[in-house]
Amino acid sequence: RCHGSGTPSASYGCHCGRSKARACELRLPHGTVATPVFMPVGTQGTMKGVTAAQLDGLGCRICLGNTYHLGTRPVSLIQKAGGCIGLLNVNREYHSQDSGGFQMVSLLALSEVTEEGVRFHSPYDGAEILLSPEKSVEIQNALGSDIMMQLDDVVSSTLTGSRVEEAMHRSIRWLDRCISANRRPDQQNLFAIIQGGLDPVLRSKCLEEMTKRDVPGFAIGGLSGGESKEQFWKMVTLSTDHLPREKPRYLMGVGYATDLVVCVALGCDMFDCVFPTRTARFGSALVPTGNLQLKKKQFAKDFRPIDEACMCPTCQRHTRAFLHVLLHSNNTAALHHVTVHNIAYQLRLMDAIRTSIVEHRFPDFVRDFMKTMYGDVGRCPGWAVEALQSVGIPLS
Ligand SMILES: [Zn+2]
Repeated sequence: RCHGSGTPSASYGCHCGRSKARACELRLPHGTVATPVFMPVGTQGTMKGVTAAQLDGLGCRICLGNTYHLGTRPVSLIQKAGGCIGLLNVNREYHSQDSGGFQMVSLLALSEVTEEGVRFHSPYDGAEILLSPEKSVEIQNALGSDIMMQLDDVVSSTLTGSRVEEAMHRSIRWLDRCISANRRPDQQNLFAIIQGGLDPVLRSKCLEEMTKRDVPGFAIGGLSGGESKEQFWKMVTLSTDHLPREKPRYLMGVGYATDLVVCVALGCDMFDCVFPTRTARFGSALVPTGNLQLKKKQFAKDFRPIDEACMCPTCQRHTRAFLHVLLHSNNTAALHHVTVHNIAYQLRLMDAIRTSIVEHRFPDFVRDFMKTMYGDVGRCPGWAVEALQSVGIPLS
């Protein structure tokens, strides 16, 4: 079954006959991105530890920019540099997406949220900055990213009570202000961000209201912030049940391999997370069985690559023993090599997921993945078993 629509970011594709998984193509102004897709997170126009050219070489076609960091630089300079794509100095096939209010949670200690917007102090010069919905869209319009995110009122996912409800309603009002402020709706796709915390009533209300707006895509926000996995997957599946089938669904802040596989089964198309790059900085390399802590003694004389099946530049050139030595000498090249591999791992995982959906064998892929990751499906986390069962993929 295939779907099509005329909106700039229209997606169409194949559905897993069993679960809610889908393989789509996201048509963006600068090209097409196959989904499900993992988007690495960048700051200051480049990836921490990896250049844009290297990302491109790994087959990465979409990554996150960062409004807050880029936005505190003069917007006119960014415009002169040709928008975000020019700033990244990569070819036009490369897409960027800006994270709007995404990192407000990490800023909450220093910020103040009012109906006007989010007020905070610039880490560059201490100046007070008001990030309003209009300002956030203006910055993203100047950056020229293919996808931009509404400014939302983010509260901690473990918070309960009236503040969660207030943030949900305010996010709807801010969505309307962002839609009105978008000067380039034909070239830049504004995504709404579903809020509502862990309360099914609030989240349903937010879904009902936001899906009335004709936005090109929807993000599921306010999760992955310390809530239980049971609460997490139930909010994800509730959201995908109510989101329009013909528009992309972006689950924010999710990047663990098991979570990616389960949330694709629950019907999500796009993901982002700092995890693969952050964990690389601790010498942790991602592999199909979990991870390798390369600083451990057991790797000192291990002359295999991180993953023999991986085609990334790190695995083609370096051994676990070499990386072990580099990590122990605090060589920053080691962090770079592991980061490159971890991004390659995420991209390859998403490719494998997508191929299995297209070939109508996604349920088998999920079972094989869990078997490899946990040794035995009996050791697979209970929440994942339950979530997969709910969409018709029993593990045993
Ligand atoms: Zn590799």
